[in-house]
Amino acid sequence: MQQFEMHSKNANGIISIEYGRKYVYSFDLEGRLLNYINEGRTYRRTLQNHLIFSRVVSGERISEEVVEKEAKYIVDQAYDEIKNIIPSIRDNDITPFLSKIASMNWQKLQLDAENLTRIYSGSVPIVPPDQYFALYVILERGCKWNRCNFCELYRDRKFSTLSLKDITKQIVDLEKFFGMGIESRRSIFIGEANAMSLPQELLLSATELLNNHFRLPIYSFSEPFTGHGPKTVKELQELRNHGLKRVYIGLESGSRKILRLINKPMDLNVFRDYVHRLKESKISVGIIVILGIGGRNLYDEHMRNTVDIIKDLNLDSSDIVYLSPFVQYPGFNYTDDSEHIIPLSHEEMLVQGREIRKDLLQPKSEQNNDHVFPVALYNLLEAQY
Ligand code: SF4
Repeated sequence: MQQFEMHSKNANGIISIEYGRKYVYSFDLEGRLLNYINEGRTYRRTLQNHLIFSRVVSGERISEEVVEKEAKYIVDQAYDEIKNIIPSIRDNDITPFLSKIASMNWQKLQLDAENLTRIYSGSVPIVPPDQYFALYVILERGCKWNRCNFCELYRDRKFSTLSLKDITKQIVDLEKFFGMGIESRRSIFIGEANAMSLPQELLLSATELLNNHFRLPIYSFSEPFTGHGPKTVKELQELRNHGLKRVYIGLESGSRKILRLINKPMDLNVFRDYVHRLKESKISVGIIVILGIGGRNLYDEHMRNTVDIIKDLNLDSSDIVYLSPFVQYPGFNYTDDSEHIIPLSHEEMLVQGREIRKDLLQPKSEQNNDHVFPVALYNLLEAQY
């Protein structure tokens, strides 16, 4: 490699090295590659050793998973390049970790990913886009409902609740696994589909345990229709005091008809009440909407009802709305196909997303424009841990 200008830093456990304004590498303190930019080509490597390639086309971010053979080539190429650069790095914050980086390659990352899968007794299906740098800890495995017909995330596992003993062992195993790399973790994500439905005592004990080990903000998926239903404001406040920062709820659609068609037993009044309880407890929310889920036939109903219910939640800048293009699994069917729902193309879903976003960000009245919250895309393929 030619000699170019170089910048490097260790920012809270993430080492980044920029070389010649064309190459950027980031690693955790154990030398695991996290991100790699090569002449404008941007890659994110997940802890499960998948490589996601992202680019922006006409203002839209498009991502795809790189096939394994090519991913191996690209990751090994990144390590070969960095090994050439290492001798010229003088930054004292980084030099203690360079030998770890230099000793890594695809094969070792593959074994690393297998070790992580063993700790979780399976793969991690998904995390929200702002949780790629979380420490994932399973408190409850799978989804108790597991019957929404558009969702296959947890179909491969039986629902079970972990004991405090199992959770303690998992934490110890994760500490050992991450080593110094734990410093790259910015939060804790408690899995899987609805850890919030655990009995309050167990949830408090588990979050206390997590606080004793890590002192990081805690995030969780949730839905209000399994277990004993949503927690009370008092219970939520206890959890907030134990570090719970945000809860992500898959609303999918504000249309009762569409919820029936996708077999999601979400009572919209209960959903609204749950969000209000969370907000009253000073826990922020992430609301997930599926773009294109009503197809062409229910396009307007999906848009209108979804916007109406979200506008009624009084979200603020601490909350977020995620718009996730519908990924149709082979074999997917609506519970009743008498409407002959015509699917939207990916581009049509993005158009629907832009329309929903515009309506959501329209102030309720000219006097009231304080309720501004982020609305972002949630690409399921990118959401790998
Ligand atoms: S969408 Fe949520 S509630 Fe429905 S099956 Fe999937 S994880 Fe379970």
